[in-house]
Amino acid sequence: MIHMQIAKTIAEITASVAQARKAGKTIGFVPTMGALHDGHVSLIEAAATRCGHVVVSIFVNPTQFGPGEDLNKYPRPFEKDLAICEKHGADTVFAPQVQEMYPRENLTWVNVEQLTDRLCGEFRPGHFRGVATVCAKLFDIVCPDVAFFGQKDAQQALVIRRMVADLNMPLEIVVCPTVREPDGLAMSSRNQYLSPQERKDATRIARSLERCLESIEAGERAAEVLRGQIRQILEQMPATRIEYISICDSETLEELDRVRGRVLVAVAVRMKSTRLIDNILVDTPAR
Ligand code: AMP
Repeated sequence: MIHMQIAKTIAEITASVAQARKAGKTIGFVPTMGALHDGHVSLIEAAATRCGHVVVSIFVNPTQFGPGEDLNKYPRPFEKDLAICEKHGADTVFAPQVQEMYPRENLTWVNVEQLTDRLCGEFRPGHFRGVATVCAKLFDIVCPDVAFFGQKDAQQALVIRRMVADLNMPLEIVVCPTVREPDGLAMSSRNQYLSPQERKDATRIARSLERCLESIEAGERAAEVLRGQIRQILEQMPATRIEYISICDSETLEELDRVRGRVLVAVAVRMKSTRLIDNILVDTPAR
């Protein structure tokens, strides 16, 4: 029997959340673009553990895609996604059409400065403006107490946290660890674009980060040396362009000369047309 509600309009999701609130439940929210995998599942389960009512949104947000990006080919296995949501504890899925979210030309945007200039922001102009704006809209529509994001998209999580703090949005942001395939590759809806050979080569991304962690643990502090070690591993991936190798402050995303305190090690590569990102957080002595 299907207990989960499916809301396609703002009116429907508003009514569904209002009913849960009236029953005294806290609202947990997991925003996604669908094509759900175990990374998304971990967020849904975290929400179900913490909150009495879990809303998952499935919306491929056009405003966070640049020209020439994969908006049209982004996978949309809707029925399969619904089954995953239901199985892992979602109470309501909010799956609006583009027209429902953007019924007119959008003139109002949320721009989180500085944090969005770096890393992915440099290679995807306008991406974080789209992400922050759609999250602000979704937060206003769903009114969650807690929203769950993945560390896989470290910069996104930071941008959303900052937006919520700067704009006094009345919700808590929880960031959950990156879920990986058994061979280390970070799960991503975009992994299905990879050919079998590319899929094999892509394991080097996580390996390069593990290697970096080992070097830091062995005492290496020079960020340029660490970037070089990562580069060496990534350069063994054929037909792959490295977009960035970043060793930066985990709060400001400023590139470091020397590793110190909590550090974000983040990479982005492009394998033909598929863009993959990954990162690890490393705690080192603050001196
Ligand atoms: P997406 O559908 O790709 O927009 O992702 C929706 C949410 O799932 C975001 O908060 C992502 O950071 C999170 N997510 C995606 N992949 C993973 C993963 N491998 N592990 C943990 N969270 C993830």
